Amino acid sequence: MAGGNSEEALRRKLIATFLFQGIAAYLLLVAVAVFRRDDTGRVLAELGADAPYLIAIYFALAFALSLFKFKLSEKTFVNLALTSSTAMLPLLGPVVSCCIAVAATTITRALGVLQLGPNKSSLDDPGVNWARVFGQAGTYGIPVLFAGSVYEAVGGVTPALDSSWVSALRIAITGVALLFANHVVMDQVELIYGSTLRDFVRDTIVDATIFGLTLPYAVLMSLHFGSMGPGAIFGWAFMFVVFNLVARNLAVTRGARDRLVHRLASLSNVGRTISIQFKTDELLRAIYEACRNSVDVSFFSIAIHDEATNELVAELDIRDGAVLPKFRFPVGSGLNSWVFLNRRPLRLADTEETERMGIVAVDDGKATEGWLGVPMIARDRVLGVISVQSFKKNAFSQDDEILLTTIANQAAVALDNAVLFRDLSHLTGQLENRVLDRTNELQETNLRLVAADRSKSQFLAQMSHELRTPLNSIIGFSGVLLGSSRAMLTARLFKFVENIHEAGQHLLTLINDILDLSKIEAGRLEVAAQRFDLRKTVAVVERVIRGVGGEAGIRLESRVATDVPDVNLDEGKVKQILLNLLSNAVKFSHPNSTVGLEIERLDGAASPLAVESIAIRVSDSGIGIPRGELHRIFDQFYQVDTRDARARRGTGLGLSLARGLVDLHGGRIDVESTEGAGSTFTVLLPVDCEQSRDDEAGSRDELLEGAGSPT
Ligand code: ADP
Repeated sequence: MAGGNSEEALRRKLIATFLFQGIAAYLLLVAVAVFRRDDTGRVLAELGADAPYLIAIYFALAFALSLFKFKLSEKTFVNLALTSSTAMLPLLGPVVSCCIAVAATTITRALGVLQLGPNKSSLDDPGVNWARVFGQAGTYGIPVLFAGSVYEAVGGVTPALDSSWVSALRIAITGVALLFANHVVMDQVELIYGSTLRDFVRDTIVDATIFGLTLPYAVLMSLHFGSMGPGAIFGWAFMFVVFNLVARNLAVTRGARDRLVHRLASLSNVGRTISIQFKTDELLRAIYEACRNSVDVSFFSIAIHDEATNELVAELDIRDGAVLPKFRFPVGSGLNSWVFLNRRPLRLADTEETERMGIVAVDDGKATEGWLGVPMIARDRVLGVISVQSFKKNAFSQDDEILLTTIANQAAVALDNAVLFRDLSHLTGQLENRVLDRTNELQETNLRLVAADRSKSQFLAQMSHELRTPLNSIIGFSGVLLGSSRAMLTARLFKFVENIHEAGQHLLTLINDILDLSKIEAGRLEVAAQRFDLRKTVAVVERVIRGVGGEAGIRLESRVATDVPDVNLDEGKVKQILLNLLSNAVKFSHPNSTVGLEIERLDGAASPLAVESIAIRVSDSGIGIPRGELHRIFDQFYQVDTRDARARRGTGLGLSLARGLVDLHGGRIDVESTEGAGSTFTVLLPVDCEQSRDDEAGSRDELLEGAGSPT
């Protein structure tokens, strides 16, 4: 409110000052005209037939200079009408000169307010503008009357017909007085606008310099009348107007160049500013800001094409800085549609041109004249249209068109990127959600599995405990019975006890195997490595197997190569592997055949394990394994389903347990077999399982490191 009030106060003050200056000037002029009517009459009489020419030439000169006033810089306006006043004063006297100066400058300013001629007034406030037209009499009339008195005071004669140095000096003094008076009047207005002392000094120096440059012209012009008549005045006036026009053109060109440089500079920023925006609304705003530095954006709009509905959506519509609500219109008629469909810029000077082009402008409530619209094209697709409008005719130049096109091109790419980015974010979001869903599902499954696994382990631990206790009693007591009651029992009963003892032991093996397997699976079975001599282990195993095989007349031939060194492995587990394989070999052999056990050393280069190893080979010439079953015999509980195999008792756990134990040592197990001819199981174990585990970890680290760095 405060701002509004002070603006209104300023406006009123301005109007009052202009009116005051105008009234004062006209009253003064009337007074002086009346007071000096004889004198004015005398001057005109003295000039005789030349008087009308002089008046016409000077009016034309003052009018032309005032009409073609120009902006020298942001702050300095050059209006050389004062020079023409200086030149006419010594010839026509103050009253006629004042009338000419006031008439010429008032008319040109009135034309400006009516938006005619090269210098149009701003449309902001017609009240102030018209007051200023009236006040023009003060700005130019009062100084002329004042300078006229100074001229006479320094002894100037009217009309000045002699061309002495002294007359020249008098005219020069008159010019300075004119400038001074003009400044005094104008400063009144400047004061209202809030100019400071520094501004006064600066403006005065600039004006005095420019005026000082033209002063000799004025002096020469006046003095030449005496010797050459009105022709000389016309010649000088003509040259002066030409001079003014040249200076004006230079200033305009310079201004245009400065503007261009400014625009180019802001253009180079445009790409940078808008390319970092990924939100469409912010991007559109950034495009507007970018255009603001370069074109008149009083009426600005960005319409984006909606492919789904084939409509243009005015996503950003700004009128005098205020953002209007978005609205849609179908692609078809209208200027924006024309640009969209023709894929090229459209620049219209005024409404007549629009009609001539045969385009029906969509009535958007803005009855404007000038229109400029450019397409936003990216990847050969028109994304939309940027347009600006103006109440002025011919508001937009070709430069504006080129500039807006450049901005639109960059904007289109940025917009396209923003859309791609949005789609990508959307897809990424979807993907993330899916990954999240799957992860949750997996987590749930995992939790269920962990729970199930825990129950399984608990069950196994409990079961083995529950079963082993009574089983041990059964095995123990049946063992005792076997040892001590042969004589007391009938042969049949004794056989029963033997069966009980054997079945008990079988069950115990089964339970132990299951327990071991479940421990391996859970990763809870650890290798307790220690150095030992395999030969001793083989001797123990041999004794057990000979005991088993001897009954069926099966011989065991074992051979441990002499270079087999002490090994660093879990002896208990190695023993179990050997027993499992050998007992299978015995079990699946024909009576009176031979089972072989061979152990040899392989050095790192020869071993598939790539470290110093031992190869344990258990071979038999028994029933063999059908080719199609070979890959399954290591599965838990798997037993070959042939008549021969079924005839042998087993659990289907021995081989899977053996493989688990071999794996624990970092070794491998393979089988070769021919059905009906026998089988050979080969176990490879590192000589030192701890060493090979360290090596493996080391090479895995190296591999990871290698993957991490490109060298
Ligand atoms: P089990 O011997 O207790 O049945 P294993 O896991 O030790 O269980 O063996 C699985 C199956 O592989 C055996 O049932 C048998 O069919 C076959 N098999 C194992 N070793 C031999 C062998 N030396 N000769 C023939 N078949 C064998």
